[in-house]
This record gives sequence, C-alpha cells and structure tokens, in this order.
Amino acid sequence: MQRGLGMIRQSGLILAYAVSILLGFNPAFTQAKPHEHGVAQLEISLSGNELQLRFVSALDSFLGWERAPRNDQEKMLYRQLRQDLAQFTSLLSLPAQAVCSLQQAQVSDPHQLENKATQAMAKQESEHQDVVVEWSIRCEQPSQLKRASFQGFDRYKRLRRIDVQYNLPSGMGKARLTSRQRELQLP
Ligand SMILES: [Zn+2]
Repeated sequence: MQRGLGMIRQSGLILAYAVSILLGFNPAFTQAKPHEHGVAQLEISLSGNELQLRFVSALDSFLGWERAPRNDQEKMLYRQLRQDLAQFTSLLSLPAQAVCSLQQAQVSDPHQLENKATQAMAKQESEHQDVVVEWSIRCEQPSQLKRASFQGFDRYKRLRRIDVQYNLPSGMGKARLTSRQRELQLP
C-alpha cells in the first residue's frame, strides 16, 4: 500500500517536471513554493541574446518586515529597495566577456504604495509579501555566460539561500547558492 502511494507520488512529480520542461519556466510552478524568509528563487533563461532573470523572495529578506510601511522612514526604505532591485547588478554580476546590458526591469510593488485605492486592499490580503523582480538583459556574447556571482548576500544580510533554476541552450539544471557558495557555474 505504502509502496503504491510512493509510486503514485513519484510519477506525479515526474509528470509535473515534464510539464514544466514543456512549458519552459512556468511561473505558477515557482509560486507554488512556500513563502520562506531568507530564501529566494532565481530563474535564468537564455534565448539567443536575450537573458531573462526572475527573482522572487519574501520582502522580509530585504527589509526585515513585510507589512505595509508605517511611517515616512519605512516608506523611504521600501521605495529605495524597489529602486535598488531594478538594477540586477545590486544582486549579481555576470562575466564582463558576455557584454550584458539591462534592457528592462520590473519590480513588483506588493504594498501598492503609489496607488491609494489599491493600498488598503494590499494590506488586507496577507501579512506575508513577496517581491518579484524580472530583468530583461541583452548579452552580445551569450556563449560567455558560463558563470554568475551572487553578491547580494553582503547587501542583504537576511538572505541566506538562493534556489536557482537555469534553462540555457547549453543545458538546464538547478543550483543552490549561499554566502559560502556564491559562484554559479553554468553549462
Ligand atoms: Zn513572510
């Protein structure tokens, strides 16, 4: 009986994995991960010269709190964080030989600070909030993307671990980064 259940679970997992490969990076697949403070997910995908990075972590990992900012000081910190995260270089560095430049960045605004109407709604939704950042980067020499270095651990001390998934023409896989293991090796 137990073995049967295990097999069902396993085949379910394999199916989920196969589906995620077919769909490329399915955002829903990542979002299903539990909200965990100090942990972030980083998805890297490369197609031609276009490098897409998607980074998700609990707001607590950066600010030490997730509720709506309570005063001007906290509002300032929150806005500053969103500005900082718009530059991927505040978190990671790519090989100079790859000649990459940021084309576009989107940083989610979980507290809807710029919109009074939706602000109250955001407050009611949940005491836990993630921040989602998507960077579109163009690399002139994408074949030189053999590694990346994550220096965000110095800047954001509460960040302990990054779970990385990459999908490149040269291969796909997973990696785990910590303050002791900051270098990501890519195929
Ligand atoms: Zn939380």
